[in-house]
Amino acid sequence: MTQPLLKSGDRLVLATHNAGKLAEFSALMAEFGITVLSAGELNLPEPEETATTFAGNAAIKALAAAQAANLPALADDSGLCVSALGGAPGIYSARWAGPEKDFNGAMARIEEGIGKDERNAWFVCVLCLAFPDGRTQSFEGRIDGQIVWPPRGANGHGYDPIFEPENETRSFAQMTDEEKNAISHRARAFAAFRKACLD
Ligand code: IMP
Repeated sequence: MTQPLLKSGDRLVLATHNAGKLAEFSALMAEFGITVLSAGELNLPEPEETATTFAGNAAIKALAAAQAANLPALADDSGLCVSALGGAPGIYSARWAGPEKDFNGAMARIEEGIGKDERNAWFVCVLCLAFPDGRTQSFEGRIDGQIVWPPRGANGHGYDPIFEPENETRSFAQMTDEEKNAISHRARAFAAFRKACLD
């Protein structure tokens, strides 16, 4: 049997400055006896996301944190890919909403760019675990679905109101957090990470 990549007593840096993600990960790790520290509390810099793939950007963030803190570090990168737009906005999902986080504008831009017939889309989340010596391992989660219009529902965030996952009649924004978390790209990436690193 191969050794888990992380073991009880290890400390892990979560390369995010987002309090919600920190809480979510800390809860996940607690049962394995792993202490989660945030890049924010360690005052680690936020590197520029200059890669052209989710995995590339997750690795940039994870490696920067692992090397600065001299501890293993985990980072994520995620976004919505629309088939009729050649996979856009993809890694640019946050950037399409701009600094003012105008997701109504970003959702309208998607609807304007696609036709009635080709509405397939998928969310992707890549988690990257990096070590101070430069080793990395990535875990991907994906959920397929379609773009719906007009936007529906008030839960969730970002592009949730226009994404209806496959085998569902509701958008992500019409589901509870628990329902979304049971099938989301992020949950699937967590599950792959957990299986490889912790179990
Ligand atoms: P980040 O990985 O936190 O940088 O998120 C990238 C962007 O992708 C977010 O700002 C959202 O626009 C979009 N995104 C990622 N996951 C979701 C989701 O579950 N629902 C809606 N939008 C998402």
